Amino acid sequence: MTASGTGPERDTHPGDEAKPGTPGTGENVCPDCKGSGRMAADPCPTCGGTGVVTEGIGGG
Ligand SMILES: [Zn+2]
Repeated sequence: MTASGTGPERDTHPGDEAKPGTPGTGENVCPDCKGSGRMAADPCPTCGGTGVVTEGIGGG
């Protein structure tokens, strides 16, 4: 990992609907990798290999 440009906030990923810690959002199992964090032999690009994505909660 590169150290430049990193801050206290966690990186967001393509599957995130909001930044982690945003009120009204929470972590959900990544719908693409089903929480495994992997797509075949590669890290899941949707969740960045974490297996979870940040999504809005409630609503509906
Ligand atoms: Zn994923």
